[in-house]
Amino acid sequence: MTDDSVFTKPLKAQYHTFGCKLNFAETASVADTFAKAGIPSVADGEAPDIIVVNSCSVTAEADRKCRSAIRSFNRRYPEALILVTGCYAQLKPEEVSALPGVGVVAGVNDKLALVNHALAWFEGRQQAPAVPAAKELRDFMPSCSRGDRTRYFLKVQDGCDYWCTYCTIPAARGRSRSGTIEQIVDQAKAVADSGGKEIVITGVNIGDFGHGRDDNFEDLCRALDRVEGIERYRISSIEPNLLTDSIIDFVAGSQRFMPHFHIPLQSGNDEVLALMRRRYDTALFASKIERIRRVIPDAFIGVDLIVGARGETEERYRASHDFIAGLDISHLHVFAYSERPGTRALQIEHVVSQHEKHVRSAEMIALSAAKHAAFASRFVGTTRPVLLEHSRDGHPLGGYTDNYLRVATELTPEYDNTLRPMKLVSLCDDGETLTAIPVL
Ligand code: SF4
Repeated sequence: MTDDSVFTKPLKAQYHTFGCKLNFAETASVADTFAKAGIPSVADGEAPDIIVVNSCSVTAEADRKCRSAIRSFNRRYPEALILVTGCYAQLKPEEVSALPGVGVVAGVNDKLALVNHALAWFEGRQQAPAVPAAKELRDFMPSCSRGDRTRYFLKVQDGCDYWCTYCTIPAARGRSRSGTIEQIVDQAKAVADSGGKEIVITGVNIGDFGHGRDDNFEDLCRALDRVEGIERYRISSIEPNLLTDSIIDFVAGSQRFMPHFHIPLQSGNDEVLALMRRRYDTALFASKIERIRRVIPDAFIGVDLIVGARGETEERYRASHDFIAGLDISHLHVFAYSERPGTRALQIEHVVSQHEKHVRSAEMIALSAAKHAAFASRFVGTTRPVLLEHSRDGHPLGGYTDNYLRVATELTPEYDNTLRPMKLVSLCDDGETLTAIPVL
């Protein structure tokens, strides 16, 4: 802030992020813009003057959580200015601006200008920033979050052109667009310069990187692979139809890209996939899993799944369950289908009851637990590299192996952010975490 500031005391800000890793990356960039303008983050227990909420609207429940949090922030800090951005703000700006304490509502591409809106508000010259329609969002807003852990989230792409029938993300985040390879490599170098060792490559539809240009996601991966100092990359989530065999083979041969994939399946039934307007069928999905297992046998494979979508009859659900049960995967991220106003899914017949959604979720979560435990058990007695990271104060270090097995250790904090070979000793009761000891 400049010397001619109209403010009698320095402003301080607090940040709250909901939803995906992309939002977390973007909040970190927002906090940077505030810090550069002389508005630091509050210390623990300090009252903020500004509360930034980066909202999510992936389900009706996500909207509800954002509303409830905003009301609670306002009750706790009635004097603070609340700025709301993110997908919920983009999709429902009027609803958000009516919430108590909300002074500014900004669209998803306006996040880096939030600080200007905040300053204008305190100077009494604030105009409510217009939230442009998502289809007008053309610029790529670079972001990279440095969490308090060892991992960085590097945004490489935004928006989506797929329009799956159940999804509001294209309406909230706009068309697919990406950073340049040069720009993203520079961000990765900056992470390495600041001591970061692991980067999670993040976006809405990252396999679509370079859409409309003559470079693609594999070109980006190959360029990032050459950045000195970064020891680990993870590909956050990639559509199965965009996960080419060539990318799988590249990961198999790379020292820096970890044997870890996260692939959205959403249903293991072709009729439901067609109703969702997904761009693959179960045969293609199975072929990707088979290829990964053939060239990277130890890879962790996480899979997203929606249960209870419109059109998922009992018979189709059973077929989906059986298909997934037969896949050699490591974990399922299970989501119960949530109706979203304005989506084409609302025209699909056969609505699954809430009760049935719960039953299907529970069954798939149990299947996931069994698969995760079976996968983790395979590695008991083996040695794998672990990037150690601090957990809660006073607790020993934990971390993840290259193939995304969570480990618990007795190591003390001086090993934080170091990469060590660890022997995996036993599987904990949660069926996911392995105890580990360093190999000297
Ligand atoms: S690929 Fe489908 S589910 Fe994923 S963001 Fe795009 S429209 Fe939504």
